[in-house]
Amino acid sequence: MNPGVGTPGFDHGMSMTSQTGRTRRQEIVERLRDSEWAFDELRHELGLTVRVLEEDLRHIDRSVRATGSRLEIRPARCEACDFGFKSTAFHPPGRCPSCRDRRIAGPWLRVRG
Ligand SMILES: [Zn+2]
Repeated sequence: MNPGVGTPGFDHGMSMTSQTGRTRRQEIVERLRDSEWAFDELRHELGLTVRVLEEDLRHIDRSVRATGSRLEIRPARCEACDFGFKSTAFHPPGRCPSCRDRRIAGPWLRVRG
């Protein structure tokens, strides 16, 4: 009876056409091309949550690659014992695995190329 096409559904994935989303990401790219930013510095500057900025950076990572640039991540460091994190995750780790201090600096981000 029903041809079985079903509801077309909306593609709410990559194809975001929201202007605010696009301009904010462009602004982030411009800032990161200009100088190196600590994740938290950038987050406070733009008034974003960790999750939103992380999501933006994931998209930026992909989009700058497409233009031959690179989003570089300098890993976080513990301010108490100078432990260097290996992880290149965008967001700062919760605490230092070495001394358990929470004063973590970085990670730092930059777009090059
Ligand atoms: Zn430490």
